[in-house]
Order: sequence, then structure tokens, then C-alpha cells
Amino acid sequence: MSRFFVTPEAVGETRIRLTNPDDLHHMLHVLRLRPGEEIDISDGVAWEYRCALRMLRPELAEAEILDRQAFAREPVLDVTLYQGIPRQGKMETIIQKGVELGVSRIVPVFTARSVAADSGRTEKKLLRWQRVADESVKQCRRGKIPEIGPMLAFADMAKQLDGFDCVLFPYEQEEKRTIKRVLRYLPSRPRSLCLIIGPEGGFSRREAETLEEAGALCVSLGKTILRTETAGPAALAMVMYELEME
Ligand code: SAM
Repeated sequence: MSRFFVTPEAVGETRIRLTNPDDLHHMLHVLRLRPGEEIDISDGVAWEYRCALRMLRPELAEAEILDRQAFAREPVLDVTLYQGIPRQGKMETIIQKGVELGVSRIVPVFTARSVAADSGRTEKKLLRWQRVADESVKQCRRGKIPEIGPMLAFADMAKQLDGFDCVLFPYEQEEKRTIKRVLRYLPSRPRSLCLIIGPEGGFSRREAETLEEAGALCVSLGKTILRTETAGPAALAMVMYELEME
């Protein structure tokens, strides 16, 4: 069943109004939906609804609420992935896998060795990356759409770390302390956590020191050096395995 997203304001007592032009086009011309057919709708905040289409026009659709439930697939743990901006084309993969694995937010970061310097077109890139997240979340049937952005300079990212219960910094030079050991022996279960992943060139020594001074826990993801587009999803999977799965 196809999933669509609305804002809570679009949800009435018994009906939901859909006005997003892309969604309406998709329903009419791609899915060729007809009144009476069922669709899934999420309000993006707390509830997901099983609905029956009652009216479908190019500018508006209305669906009758048949059933509603709290999000069934949203993780309890709020994870932010700070991703050193990689070369062209890799961010889409990182976003797609991160969304499937339950990330709440992905923040692209300009680091000393990230290839893409602060090259304009950031707005255009963020729009494209957000669209990847919007599509991925429908496929994996999550209730909330993870936020992509804003793009941050390394120093600005470092200032945000205080806001998390746990800050994990997978560092390619770390050979002793594994993410497994750190997660297994956390003093308490975090509600929020962030992962900081470097670009292809990794982190500079200065960046590593800055992160450790900011209280980030430097961890190894294992004996091999992972590609940047592997490291984020892999670390996320390990975190979800240890802290989210029953
Ligand atoms: N240029 C670095 C080098 O050759 O050592 C490799 C950087 S790696 C491609 C990109 C990022 O993935 C790293 O900055 C780190 O955040 C993460 N990463 C990759 N493998 C890792 C590992 N075994 N342990 C911890 N972090 C790792």
C-alpha cells in the first residue's frame, strides 16, 4: 500500500486532505489510483492512518480514515549522523541507507578533507538530498521523514555536540576502543546520540583532537578501513542493534 505524508493540520475527524502536487500527480498518473482504493498516510509527527480514497482530482484528494495507530516503525533512539561531505553521488547512498536504518537527521559537514569545499549550490544539493530521504522513508514505511541538513562547517558541528546524550566519533586511527565495547558499557541508555563520520580523506589530527576535547568518544568500527559511504550506515546499524533492538 502506498504511503503519503501530510501535516497534522490536514487531518480532520474522519477525513484527510492531500494537496501536495507531486503526490496528487503520483496517485493519478503513476499509481492510477481510483476512489475506494486504500492508501497509508502519516502525519509526520505521531500518527499513521489506513485510509480509503474518496475523492481524487489534480488539485486535491480526500481520504476517509479507516484506522489509525502510533508510528509502528520509528526508533525510540534519536540518532544524528554528521557526515563529512563526500565526493559526488555518495551522499545519496548514505542518506538512503541511513533512512532505512532509522537515522533521525543527517547533517553534511565541511571538514578539512571533504572534497566539496563550500561550493555554492548548497541549497540545490540539500533539496535533492531531502528528496532522497522523502522517497526512502516511503519505501521503508517509517512515520517521520528524517531531516537532511543544514550543511555545517566543522567548528559549528563541534558546538552542537553538547546537545547529545552520547557522541560517537568513529576514527580510522583508533585501534583499541571498539564501538561494541563503548555501547555495551554506557553508564545509561541514551535518548539521543550522534555519529561523526569523516569524508574519503578521513579526519585531520587537529579535528580528531577538537572532537575528543569536545567529549566525543573515539571508537573503532573494526579492523578494516571502511569507505565513507559504508562507515556511517555500518556504525548506525551497530548502534541500532545494541541500543534499539530488543
Ligand atoms: N583516509 C582514511 C585512511 O586512509 O585512513 C580513511 C577514512 S574512511 C574512508 C572515512 C571515515 O570512515 C573515517 O574518517 C571514519 O570516520 C570512518 N571509518 C572508516 N573505517 C573506520 C574504522 N575501521 N574505524 C573507525 N572509523 C572508521
